[in-house]
Amino acid sequence: MIRDAKGRRILLILRRYIVFFLLIAFVITCCMELFLLTIQRTLGIRYTEENIRMAAILTFGNVVLLSVLCTVIDAVRRRYMVERPVNRIVQGAEKLMQGDFSVRIEPFHGIDSEAEFDTIIDYFNRMAEELSGVETLRTDFIANVSHELKTPLAVIQNYGTMLQSPGLTEAQRMEYARAITEQSHRLADLITNILKLNRLENQQIYPVAKRYNLGEQLAGCLLNFESTWEKKGIDIETDIEEEVIVRSDEELLSLVWSNLFSNALKFTEDGGTVSVELKSEGDYAAVRVSDTGCGISPDTGKHIFEKFYQGDTSHATQGNGLGLALVKRVVDIVGGNISVESEVGKGSTFIVRIRRAADGDIQKNP
Ligand code: ADP
Repeated sequence: MIRDAKGRRILLILRRYIVFFLLIAFVITCCMELFLLTIQRTLGIRYTEENIRMAAILTFGNVVLLSVLCTVIDAVRRRYMVERPVNRIVQGAEKLMQGDFSVRIEPFHGIDSEAEFDTIIDYFNRMAEELSGVETLRTDFIANVSHELKTPLAVIQNYGTMLQSPGLTEAQRMEYARAITEQSHRLADLITNILKLNRLENQQIYPVAKRYNLGEQLAGCLLNFESTWEKKGIDIETDIEEEVIVRSDEELLSLVWSNLFSNALKFTEDGGTVSVELKSEGDYAAVRVSDTGCGISPDTGKHIFEKFYQGDTSHATQGNGLGLALVKRVVDIVGGNISVESEVGKGSTFIVRIRRAADGDIQKNP
């Protein structure tokens, strides 16, 4: 394919030179004819047959010589000012096609057409940089997914093998079975989150906006975690303003609240407090989910919305580092914003702002 393209380029260049040569020859012949005719007329020269033959040979020789000279000059100019940059760009593009995203082309910093090629080179380099970023993300993503899949699978395999040992007590059997169930849930969660994130990132999910009461949704979502907070003896405080109506995608936003509540409960020690507040602030509804948990250091805070990022590298707490990436994506899609305030050892507050439904919306879109 590439060799084909090279062959085609050489043929094109040859054709261009031949066409150029013929064109120049034609122009010079015309000029010379005109010149000779003018001399003949003005000086009243009468050519003999011998003179005419001589003049024809000389004119032909001059035309060929001048045309060759012009073609050579043009070839040299093209070689340095057009073909050299084009070759450099073609070589870079070939490397890129072969998957080498580190390729960058040195600009010419020249004048004339080279300056124009520098613009193309600049765009090429930017494109290569963008592609190498995407490639890094892709390889990181695969590495992270494989790692996250391998850990629960290893646990399942271990407990599965142990379950086959003879003479297990009922309590041991139950413990191993529980561990297997727990890890399979973790795997299922991971796969569900990856699929959701993938669909959100590929714009396969279009928000379906409808008017609804945000306070009711928050209370409903929070209640789903009742067994968790009871198990950990965590105090729940709520300050939810009534009749805060938003016009947004209810299903997508419930993903946001579930992730924020689950994190607040997960990162808070037994006996701590998690509070949920809803207030209308101007055109926006502000939801604050606070906890008295371990808090987030400024360094960790910079990465928490990245895919697969987990502050606790020991992975002691359950999770796969996809929750906040999902939250951020959804908040962006519905046109809201999210921020976090936190102090290590004291706790964290996640603040989500969603635009409230305009009052006129009630009549227009019941
Ligand atoms: P996961 O909870 O599965 O680890 P997330 O994307 O939900 O992944 O969170 C990413 C990281 O952000 C967590 O690993 C944790 O370090 C930090 N984090 C999120 N929420 C809290 C919180 N409420 N308190 C402390 N740290 C948090």
